[in-house]
Amino acid sequence: SIPEALAHVRADFPILQRQVHGKPLVYLDNAASTQKPQHVIDTINRYYANENSNIHRGVHLLSTEATGAYEEARGKIARFLNAADDSEIVFTRGTTESVNLVAHSFVEPRLQPGDEILISAMEHHANIVPWQLLCERTGAKLKVIPVTDDVDLDLSTFDELLNERTKFLSLTYVSNAIGTVNDVKPLLAQAKAQGVPTLLDAAQAVQHMPVDVQELGCDFLVLSGHKIYGPTGIGALYGRRELLDGMRPYQGGGDMISHVTFEGSTFKEPPSRFEAGTPHIEGAIGLGAAVDYLSGVGLEAIHDYESQLIDYAVAKLSEVDGLRIIGNPRNRSGAISFTMGEAHPHDIGTVLDTEGVAIRSGHHCCEPLMQRLGVPATARASFSLYNTPEDVDTLAAALKKTSLLFM
Ligand code: PMP
Repeated sequence: SIPEALAHVRADFPILQRQVHGKPLVYLDNAASTQKPQHVIDTINRYYANENSNIHRGVHLLSTEATGAYEEARGKIARFLNAADDSEIVFTRGTTESVNLVAHSFVEPRLQPGDEILISAMEHHANIVPWQLLCERTGAKLKVIPVTDDVDLDLSTFDELLNERTKFLSLTYVSNAIGTVNDVKPLLAQAKAQGVPTLLDAAQAVQHMPVDVQELGCDFLVLSGHKIYGPTGIGALYGRRELLDGMRPYQGGGDMISHVTFEGSTFKEPPSRFEAGTPHIEGAIGLGAAVDYLSGVGLEAIHDYESQLIDYAVAKLSEVDGLRIIGNPRNRSGAISFTMGEAHPHDIGTVLDTEGVAIRSGHHCCEPLMQRLGVPATARASFSLYNTPEDVDTLAAALKKTSLLFM
């Protein structure tokens, strides 16, 4: 049953009213991008209809209002993550840009040839490729925490992998491909005890459960707006102020400088130092509205509800002939990845689409993980606060039809 806190959320998402191939839309591709509530759409419309102006440099009223709304949004993200100060939130284009910023501005100046960066085998390409590029530039080495057949982190060698050569640990909180929730807190604590700075990829975490950066003890945390009911092209980097203070700029341009001469430039304090040029103003304001929406429903309530929904989905999907759920079905958030006999995941996705059911098939930007699991691709159904047990029933029924076609 749907708890009171979530009883009315479907009505907040206008797109859920539309039809796909003559069938009601069942949207189960939330790990790729969530739909947007009317509150976010209205906030962006209101911004353009009433306040639109460039920020930070204007003395006129519109610019003052737009600046106020942009900075207020920063405060909302700070409180959402329980950052100690608003200045610990840098607006970026998303998770990908946040990781690249940390790699370039924080980690690169600290690296010598032979140093190591530690990630895991279940990372998204966004938390692999920036480190590979960094290793190419510096002669550092990328080390990988393996995963078990159940797609949990295999920590049997963690004590050796995290060693005196390790200069940075960058881990995903929740796997986008499989839904595994990693017990990151002890790993972050062990890194901290050894003086290794840490980044948590929370792109698939902050929309599903309460996340508190101070409680977790990470140095950096990254997220994308479009996965948490906000706009695309905007995301955030949380960084401990002490670390941000010591970091060099990522990009150069307007708004991030204190003074410029042809001989050289000086830079603003964080977070402005890392926000060169005119930012994605309405994106930041829209992300603030998304965070308000999430907090209004309540992350505890969302977590409880989605956990029950996933358990129900695991049970229903297990009834489908030939369907194999990948990974440990306990300890899972947001997503269920599966294969079905010899059916190609793209064909499964195509048949489901004709039934109005949107899922994703492919490597989910986790090619190394797919190689580890010995599959070229999986089909993935991913859930959010507006999905219902009826959505799961429609998915299961459509999968049963699909299995008749292919099995
Ligand atoms: N990390 C994880 C765990 C993700 O799920 C994603 C998006 N699929 C990313 C990083 C990259 O996010 P973005 O494309 O929004 O930058």
